Amino acid sequence: MTDTRKGACVCGAVTFEADVAESHYLACHCATCRRWGGPAMAVAVSDLRIDDGAPVKTYASSDYGHRGFCADCGTHLFWKMKDDSMIHLWVGALESSDDLAMGVQIFIDSKPDHYAFANDTKTMTGAEVFAAATGEI
Ligand SMILES: [Zn+2]
Ligand SMILES: [Zn+2]
Repeated sequence: MTDTRKGACVCGAVTFEADVAESHYLACHCATCRRWGGPAMAVAVSDLRIDDGAPVKTYASSDYGHRGFCADCGTHLFWKMKDDSMIHLWVGALESSDDLAMGVQIFIDSKPDHYAFANDTKTMTGAEVFAAATGEI
């Protein structure tokens, strides 16, 4: 069954529907995510349908990945592979996410010591992430 959820940016100019693919999301501690706004919390989606006219801007943060955000208010919305083969949506942009759980923390070797999530999760180093799927967040 498809788990379709609605979401929006902070200012409401961007609205979307997403087909959430997993009940667990990832937290990413990589330097790019932390610089972009803090450790990312993002869930895999099989499809992301952004409503027409929404001011979404994308930025190529690596050779393989793009980050999407609202051009009006700056809300972080998604990370995706250039070819759209993988999309991770920022959990906080969903209208409802209370039933989702943090499943894995990736780039754990890039996490600084000044914070830590108390969630009991699996962890993966950056090298393990690249080995598992070249180009994941
Ligand atoms: Zn906005
Ligand atoms: Zn990251």
